[in-house]
Amino acid sequence: EKRILMHVGPVNILDRILYAGLKNNVGFTSPEFVQAFQFSLKKIRELFQVDKTYQPFIIPGGGTSAMESVTSLLKEGEKVLVVTNGVFGDRWINIFKKYPVQVNVLKAEPGYYVEPETVEKEVKREKYKLVTFTHVETSTGVRQPIRESVKAVRDYVDLVVVDGVSSVGAEEVKAKDWNVDVYLTASQKAIGVPPGMGLLVLSSNAIEKLKEEKSVAGYYLDLRNWLPVMTNMEDGKASYFSTPPVHTILMLAEALKIIIDEEGLDNRIKRHEKIAGAIRAGVEGMGLDIVARKPEAYSNTVTGVLVKKVNAGNVLSEVISEGIELAPGVHPALQGKYFRIGHMGWVTENDAISTIASIERALKRLGEDIKLGEGVKATQLYLAK
Ligand code: PMP
Repeated sequence: EKRILMHVGPVNILDRILYAGLKNNVGFTSPEFVQAFQFSLKKIRELFQVDKTYQPFIIPGGGTSAMESVTSLLKEGEKVLVVTNGVFGDRWINIFKKYPVQVNVLKAEPGYYVEPETVEKEVKREKYKLVTFTHVETSTGVRQPIRESVKAVRDYVDLVVVDGVSSVGAEEVKAKDWNVDVYLTASQKAIGVPPGMGLLVLSSNAIEKLKEEKSVAGYYLDLRNWLPVMTNMEDGKASYFSTPPVHTILMLAEALKIIIDEEGLDNRIKRHEKIAGAIRAGVEGMGLDIVARKPEAYSNTVTGVLVKKVNAGNVLSEVISEGIELAPGVHPALQGKYFRIGHMGWVTENDAISTIASIERALKRLGEDIKLGEGVKATQLYLAK
């Protein structure tokens, strides 16, 4: 049975990528693995649009391990500002609260983002060591205007951190031009690899902190322990701190080869933009509203869909019985009122059509007040442009 994973990670994965990980007897010192690691580190620089002044990292775990590793840059008592638009922005608060640092928060209503001017005012009011942003808040599909937001705080804080888990590989990301100190993502999202790894790039400013200062970080996620592994691997020398996810890294190398060398990053971003637009056209065409309230906050990767009469959970079960897996709504303020369509990674125009068609049938059966067929029509018209 053919299934389509219109989820927020893991997503549909190309067979070619899965096969790249189907290798027996590959250890972490084998030339084949070291070569894949080295290649991946180089391509990660292109993925985040940074040069040699930035240090890429591949660490086990995923988005959360990459986020928590940021504690490697903090000393006891230091003050951080979390700018949050939803569940994953809030995750920074939960992480920092586990460490002896001070946390202040700027929070947006669901469907909105915190305005750059609001953040600017706060960093002028109080001195922060570090500020975190979430590029695309996966719980609502809201995109933060990240270039403007970073610009608004850059002169007032030491370290700027961006969670690009739902953006890197699908939205414009220019970590160096925007002068971001830590930009991070996870393997299972828009780069379309199985789950298991966090990817990060650190500026020379951030690397300096690793080299010169102590931190509140624990053991496993202290980037000081991972730094020599990265620099050695990039030099083609096997290196160990803790066993890397060998087979997943073989798959990562294959995915990055496709993303950077074959599809091309710009084409990939355009493909995501087009499919996201087509899906939103379908949602609005059938007569439903999108969770992100302002068009400039629409993302290329996630669309939250508000339902009027039916329970959003029932829509998911109905659609999955037809072979399409969507993601549940997870923002506590909108429980049961929305579901999410993930459109990232290797998503195609045909996936968009199938998804909108299946959602329409499901909603009709469940008794939602929609215009059957108008969603598919709007998606078709959008794609045929
Ligand atoms: N940040 C964002 C924006 C996310 O979407 C997610 C996961 N959906 C995470 C962080 C956490 O990533 P993981 O589940 O891989 O730990």
